[in-house]
Amino acid sequence: MTEQTKIELIKELLINDNENETELSLYKCMNCNWCLVGNCFQINGEEEIHSPNFCPKCGTKVNEVITKKKQTSIYLDVDVAEKFDEEAKKHGKGFKSELINALLRKELEKEV
Ligand SMILES: [Zn+2]
Repeated sequence: MTEQTKIELIKELLINDNENETELSLYKCMNCNWCLVGNCFQINGEEEIHSPNFCPKCGTKVNEVITKKKQTSIYLDVDVAEKFDEEAKKHGKGFKSELINALLRKELEKEV
């Protein structure tokens, strides 16, 4: 019996200790909804990605990683773009996408 599950990338966190940046990726097991962490270490620009290959909660083998993300191109006004970059530096990776998603969701859900 080979039971398999998919995991979904739900959040990326960046931890900075001045020298090294450690990126933590949080995944959700589609089988039991358990949150698991995959580590991605970024040291001297070299990137090693370790994504989980089994779920520690239900013990199911992971056969697919889902990222429900879609890349898109938008054009920002220069003044907006500058503030956006400034703010992103303070908050780290993933901030831009999170902010845009939050704002758009709020705005677009008004119409529904
Ligand atoms: Zn699981």
